[in-house]
Amino acid sequence: VIMEFSGKELIKGEPDASSFPSGGLRATFEARGYTAWDCTSPAFLREDAIGVTLCIPTAFCSYTGEALDKKTPLLKSMEAVDEQALRILRLFGNTTSKRVVPSVGAEQEYFLVDREKYLQRKDLIYAGRTLFGAMPPKGQELEDHYFGAIRERVAAYMKEVNEELWRLGVPAKTQHNEVAPAQHELAPIYEQVNVAVDHNQMVMETLKKVAGRHGLNCLLHEKPFAGVNGSGKHNNWSLTTEDGINLLNPGETPHENIQFLLVLSCILKAVDRHADLLRESAADVGNDHRLGANEAPPAIISVFIGEQLEDVVDQLCSTGEATHSKVGGTLKTGVKTLPDLFKDATDRNRTSPFAFTGNKFEFRMVGSSDSISSPNVVLNTIAAEAFKEAADILEKAEDFDTAVHDMIKEQLAAHRRIIFNGNGYADAWVEEAEMRGLPNIKSMVEAIPALTTEASVRMFEAFNVFTKAELESRVEIEYEAYSKAINIEARTMIDMAGKQIIPAAVKYATMLADSLSKVQTACPDADVSVQAELLTETSAYLSDMKVALANLTDVTEKCGIIENNKEQANAYHDIVVPAMEALRAPADKLEMMVDKELWPMPSYGDLIFEV
Ligand code: ADP
Ligand code: MG
Repeated sequence: VIMEFSGKELIKGEPDASSFPSGGLRATFEARGYTAWDCTSPAFLREDAIGVTLCIPTAFCSYTGEALDKKTPLLKSMEAVDEQALRILRLFGNTTSKRVVPSVGAEQEYFLVDREKYLQRKDLIYAGRTLFGAMPPKGQELEDHYFGAIRERVAAYMKEVNEELWRLGVPAKTQHNEVAPAQHELAPIYEQVNVAVDHNQMVMETLKKVAGRHGLNCLLHEKPFAGVNGSGKHNNWSLTTEDGINLLNPGETPHENIQFLLVLSCILKAVDRHADLLRESAADVGNDHRLGANEAPPAIISVFIGEQLEDVVDQLCSTGEATHSKVGGTLKTGVKTLPDLFKDATDRNRTSPFAFTGNKFEFRMVGSSDSISSPNVVLNTIAAEAFKEAADILEKAEDFDTAVHDMIKEQLAAHRRIIFNGNGYADAWVEEAEMRGLPNIKSMVEAIPALTTEASVRMFEAFNVFTKAELESRVEIEYEAYSKAINIEARTMIDMAGKQIIPAAVKYATMLADSLSKVQTACPDADVSVQAELLTETSAYLSDMKVALANLTDVTEKCGIIENNKEQANAYHDIVVPAMEALRAPADKLEMMVDKELWPMPSYGDLIFEV
């Protein structure tokens, strides 16, 4: 059978959209929604068990015209930054470039676990992360995984993932082990941002799909294992003209590159001013375990610009004139048969949430399971706003050279507090950042309100990216998503504790009691203190668990009936999450004591060291 589609059919579609979250934008009885073809993102053929499907990247809006999706605002933000960045280029005499396009390469981290073992853990099945689990004797302290050999089974998996992705048109390029045992990474070649966003969704789907064929399961959760490195997504972002000029390329001598310095100062201003929005764009339920917890990167937004640029900024801020740029030089290996190496002008900083890496910014906060759309909507729009403000003034300037020079100095001085080249993991930075007045937003529920602040609504409306109503709907959706996820986690814990862990510990206690009485009967003089102590301890943890379980059940039920989305999400965060931790603590202690044969699920060690 040959199917033919008319242009009309391809451009517009009408799925039933009533079950799609709309955050109050529509009533559920009003179901109409339209898809529109994003013809700037290539259509592709997907081959799977169903057969071959023609997939067309589409935007999705409601009957009343509000965007329900993550693509429409992204496309709008691309138009905004295109228009404003072109104005900057024109000021510097570029009359030929026609478009400025944000490019993105998203490095994707993930964990692989054995599928059989995965199926024995309800927490992994329902929540995508372990909700119980004691640390194995070996963690990642040897730091031997990153440079370790890729295991055969994993290598075969990676090869097939690449081939599947290439077939779909996704330019997967790099793969390697990550810091934690069982953790890996895939990076594609960077692409126009809307294509990169679509492709990242396909990467996530493919990672999951192919894992099944290798007897593996791919965990995209930000923190599948407590105490083990979490997973993120590094969103590498740059602005390039269609004829190949990268606005973020400082060149060999950045101090002379006035256009670059203006762009840099605009971006610093944008990030400083809208740090809360950027932080929000990376907020998701799983990411709460990374950002602001004992994990990279910190929840405080700062920008790493490197030694070379910092030095230029210093010169500009102190003397008003930048006269030189530090150069890299050579690195002597000291071995006759090894070449001397050309050295970059600056080292890297792996702790910075927003790092300049040569000709792009790397936003490292994004969660491994999240769409990269929101972070890029924010990046594009806040950059557009800063470019617009600069262009509005500079286009009217009588003496352009002086005006641009003054503006760079002014913007750098005003927003210097956002630059931080030191160790972002250190406690000292948290204090320092507070002194600088930088926000430290520790959780998703605290981050969400940033979407509808006056500054945010004003900016998004000015650039036609979101209406106030669309922003408000996203706030509702995010609170709801948070509550639902925590509710699932809590109920999974209640289930596992009640039906698996407590019964196993009771069995173990019975075993101890049996041994105690049997040994005593058989040999009244024998020392049974070990059994007695173990029994006392096991019973104590059992009773702790029972109390914590009753409490978790109670608070989860109470939170479930709160009607206001914001109140409910906050209650889950403030009351249910600590109750979950209180239940986990005695369970993890029991795992360390109870006979391995009796423990009802694979341990951390089984999961991360035996892939
Ligand atoms: P690293 O993080 O070690 O620097 P790479 O240089 O391989 O790694 O880059 C990481 C990601 O950044 C890749 O997806 C790459 O395609 C992307 N990237 C490289 N250059 C740019 C650029 N100019 N704009 C956007 N993304 C880029
Ligand atoms: Mg990186």
